[in-house]
Amino acid sequence: MLPLIILDNGHGNNTPGKCSPLWPDGTQLLEWQWTRDIASDVAERLVLLGYDARLLVTEKRDLPLTVRIRRAREWVYEHRQRGGIAAQRILVSIHTNASTLTPPADTAPSSLQMPSGWEAFIHGSDANSLELGRELYLKAAELLPRRFPIRTRSGNARSGAPLCPKRAEFYLLAYAPCVAVLTENLFMDNADDCRYLLSDEGRQTITKLHVQAIHNYMTKRL
Ligand SMILES: [Zn+2]
Repeated sequence: MLPLIILDNGHGNNTPGKCSPLWPDGTQLLEWQWTRDIASDVAERLVLLGYDARLLVTEKRDLPLTVRIRRAREWVYEHRQRGGIAAQRILVSIHTNASTLTPPADTAPSSLQMPSGWEAFIHGSDANSLELGRELYLKAAELLPRRFPIRTRSGNARSGAPLCPKRAEFYLLAYAPCVAVLTENLFMDNADDCRYLLSDEGRQTITKLHVQAIHNYMTKRL
């Protein structure tokens, strides 16, 4: 039975907000589009590595969380019925972060210390979710340029904090029928983070980070 990897790309083209500022060079990141691009690339590569990798949302519009969970439950049920094991069923939800800071109108965003960096969340204390989270942190710390903080539960891993995922009560994580982690891939409202997210290098690195971390997690459970 192939391991089941469910990739969720948060939000849809009808979700309000969820985009970067329009930068002076005319570029803008739309979270729904960016996360769909990354999730499809990750899924494609995982299929090539022999996994049953699926996109939870193939629609462009936003799919309510309850519907996403129902879909995930059906796939997990099917996997279990066919003899698949629990540790080999995972859900990774891919997002870009945004801070709650709003720069005053007369302040250049570049002069403000806007939050920056990579982080990931789990719900509760499931050992496999914790391990998958750790693999993702490990790859983020290894592959992302050093200027981006790696925001762990107890501080920045660049300054020595252990690579441990944060905890959150997000609906998708709380109701996921399997091992689950949500990644927040840099801050789209930080000019430097956003430029990196929109670059080829950034897209490739973040795709690679997910593929390698998931593969490392799975190879320890085959
Ligand atoms: Zn999001």
